[in-house]
Amino acid sequence: MSSEAVPAAAGGVDRSLLLVLSAPSGAGKTTLCRRLVATMPDAFFSVSATTRKPRGKEVEGVDYRFVSDARFRELVQNDELLEWAEVHGHFYGTPRRPVEEAKAQGKLVLFDIDVQGGMQVKARHPEAVTVLVLPPSYRELERRLRSRGTDAEPDIERRLLAAQAEVWRAKTYDYCLVNDQVDAAFEDLVAMITAERARSWRFDLAAFGF
Ligand code: 5GP
Repeated sequence: MSSEAVPAAAGGVDRSLLLVLSAPSGAGKTTLCRRLVATMPDAFFSVSATTRKPRGKEVEGVDYRFVSDARFRELVQNDELLEWAEVHGHFYGTPRRPVEEAKAQGKLVLFDIDVQGGMQVKARHPEAVTVLVLPPSYRELERRLRSRGTDAEPDIERRLLAAQAEVWRAKTYDYCLVNDQVDAAFEDLVAMITAERARSWRFDLAAFGF
């Protein structure tokens, strides 16, 4: 058996954790996700399929699997997606198989997906943990989006409206994480992971000799 194939409950503890991060754009979710992948040896980033075109330095298979509309429809019809949603006029979905494999190996599975998707993951996997990343305030989000200087005014307005809707839709999420200072937010996120992995249902006490 390779070291990759350690079963989820090795050592009497099921460490597999499905961690959904959602946020309004500009809250810093992607930075937090990248940092988790870079620092947690057992983190597995769920690479979504999308029908939108690659942006900037995005790499096929790393940031997204870029697919045609027809291919996306096929994935849905074949039930190959754990969840999917239409976001800003494009389709996005989570391939099911890699998630199931990583979960079976006890990994920290990270989902950078919107709230519609997060709720679908939770419905299928009630043990999944959902985290809404928030900016310190709506005003701060507005300031961050404008200071990037990359988006036109109508686009900023659209993102701000979407941000309002996204935050209110996430009322049922398990945790809110305020990202004021990214180092502190990252520490809080790691604390959530540590606590979730210490839940009693994960422990097979017989394996501890009790
Ligand atoms: P972007 O196009 O800016 O990369 O992503 C737009 C939005 O789609 C973000 O909120 C991102 O989290 C979300 N998203 C990315 N992948 C998925 C996915 O597989 N499923 C769902 N539901 N949302 C996704």
